[in-house]
Amino acid sequence: MLILAVTLLLFYAIMSVILYNRNLELLKREVKQEAEYICTAVNISGSGYLEKLSQVDEGTRVTQIDDSGNVLYDSSSEEEDMENHGARQEVKEALASGTGESVRMSNTLGRELYYYAVLLDNGTVLRVAKSMDNLAMTALNVLPVIGGLAVLMIAFALFLAKWQTKKLIRPINELDLEHPLENTLYEELTPLLVAMDKQNKEKEAVSNMRKEFSANVSHELKTPLTSISGYAEIMKNGMVRPADIPVFSERIYKEARRLITLVEDIIKLSKLDEESVELEKEEVDLYELTREIVSRLSPQVSQKHIRMEVTGEPVECYGIRQILDEMVYNVCENAIKYNNEGGRVSVWVGNTLEGPKVSVSDTGIGIPKEHQERIFERFYRVDKSHSKERGGTGLGLSIVKHGALLHGAKVSVDSVPGKGTRIEMLFPKGKK
Ligand code: ADP
Repeated sequence: MLILAVTLLLFYAIMSVILYNRNLELLKREVKQEAEYICTAVNISGSGYLEKLSQVDEGTRVTQIDDSGNVLYDSSSEEEDMENHGARQEVKEALASGTGESVRMSNTLGRELYYYAVLLDNGTVLRVAKSMDNLAMTALNVLPVIGGLAVLMIAFALFLAKWQTKKLIRPINELDLEHPLENTLYEELTPLLVAMDKQNKEKEAVSNMRKEFSANVSHELKTPLTSISGYAEIMKNGMVRPADIPVFSERIYKEARRLITLVEDIIKLSKLDEESVELEKEEVDLYELTREIVSRLSPQVSQKHIRMEVTGEPVECYGIRQILDEMVYNVCENAIKYNNEGGRVSVWVGNTLEGPKVSVSDTGIGIPKEHQERIFERFYRVDKSHSKERGGTGLGLSIVKHGALLHGAKVSVDSVPGKGTRIEMLFPKGKK
């Protein structure tokens, strides 16, 4: 509407100016022609011709002025009443160069007039003038046409805008949001549809993951519970010799411990998942943290007769202490769990060009190439039966992966089955 209004106003102004100029040109031509006829007539038959000139068009004014500016004849006023015309521009020009012209308001008639003056053979000046509409009048004359046009155009624009909007919006309202890419719409909407499709797929993937996770959790919880309940039932029925009771109790205890670890891991993971980590980030010395973790792991280390060493240098990492602890702990614990009796674990902590790094190498059973990608999945174990024996829940590396995601860290695996594994965690530099 605004564009239309501005356009119409501009059009109106330009139209008025063009019309005014065209009228002026036509008028000039007409007046000049008329002046020429009268001039020729006066030159031939003398000034008396003017007195006889009765057929002058309405609106045309003829004046004869002598070389000192006195009005000798005027078709619309009494000559005696008229002031000296010697100073009028067209008269001055005609006296000097033969012809003269000017456009101005006439004092006598009160309208805008075009004057054209010619020097006659007898030395007097003949002036012919015609009145015309000034610019404002011309504009006023055009107004009804432009006004009508404006109303029409606005009505048309309104109708067009409504129709166009409806046409554009209808397919959007009819979109099949479940399958965005199956809609055939105008191409401008394709990026939106692609984004929607991506989001749908992501949502579906998350929902599938949740379903799978719940199914896995139930299964993982049920297995130790079934064992516990089975052992307890046998004991309850008095089917265990007193000498075997410690063995059974030990099994029940082990299964219960497993359950506790599993539940703890699930809680950690779901906390990371919900992104409800409210803990503050702080500067953590990774070297110090790793040494402390390794000392916490010493019972397992000595149980398996493993040689474990930590080398490197103090390095600051900006992160959540508790989560960094869980990440390093899980990787170190795996290096012990999946190691052979009397094996070795070397941990290096330090700063690299890319940022702080923790590297854990072991001389354990290794991970076959095809499993290396998948070990970060929840409940994924390379060797399910053995992993259970070793006390794994299948969640340790998922926690590492989520923690890395939270810190913008990269985790890499390098492993040769039968020889050993190296897992590295590279944290971003500075406060990111
Ligand atoms: P788990 O609790 O079973 O150890 P993780 O998520 O920590 O679960 O690890 C997933 C699987 O990756 C393990 O079951 C194991 O098969 C394999 N794995 C992890 N770390 C090592 C390692 N250092 N050496 C060999 N295999 C490993």
